[in-house]
Amino acid sequence: MTPVLRICHLYPDLLNLYGDRGNIMVLAGRARRRGIAVTVLDAGLGDDIGPDDADLFFIGGGEDRQQRIAVGDLVGRKRGPLADAVADGAVVLAVCGGYQLLGKFYRPAEGDDLPGLALLDLWTEHAGPSAPRLIGNLVIQPDGDEPPLIGFENHGGRTYLGPGARPLGRVVAGWGNNGRDRTEGAAAGHVYGTYLHGPLLPKNPAFADRLIREALSRRFAGTPLVPLPDILEAQAREAMINRLVAQHHP
Ligand code: GLN
Repeated sequence: MTPVLRICHLYPDLLNLYGDRGNIMVLAGRARRRGIAVTVLDAGLGDDIGPDDADLFFIGGGEDRQQRIAVGDLVGRKRGPLADAVADGAVVLAVCGGYQLLGKFYRPAEGDDLPGLALLDLWTEHAGPSAPRLIGNLVIQPDGDEPPLIGFENHGGRTYLGPGARPLGRVVAGWGNNGRDRTEGAAAGHVYGTYLHGPLLPKNPAFADRLIREALSRRFAGTPLVPLPDILEAQAREAMINRLVAQHHP
């Protein structure tokens, strides 16, 4: 059977900051360039999803107001099928506001706490309307021999990890989860959350391929991903990493 990468984009019109939609385009483009078919399902407010509708679920970022609009539907309607999909090996990638809603709760700048999906052992508290936002370019080093991840962050929320989640990486340049413990993002199994906007994946093709490989392994284990040249990507990464590391470690 021809391998198919099935992607579900949650709240594409509501949670989409700094071109987060670009992550979908990169995943689809890199799969198609290897002759892998791709389907993209947009699922917004009021749309039902099934655990077998996709193998990779994506949630983008948003301001507190957008998160508040999405959360009732996310936790009330989508949590069950998402948790079942994850239990069955599906991949979840969430960025910034979406990342915060993967945790136990998000305490916004104002108003009541927003309950989270509790797919990751973490919580987030906004530091308050007058506190500085954590803004700027960000470079993190994942564990093992994974290449650095680079992007842009802008968040008022400070995220803290519980024992059940490991960081996506250590901050090399920038603020990360809370500007204090040098952790950035979180991961557990195939569930990934990060503050890296930009969008994330055009600048981090190896991570995009990892997500594609993991998503395909749910139904098409062993599907080869022939290496792509990634010349422009490599040049952009090198330029950005050299500039940022030099700025942060003069
Ligand atoms: N509203 C959240 C915060 O301020 C997330 C922002 C975002 O997605 N960039 O922390």
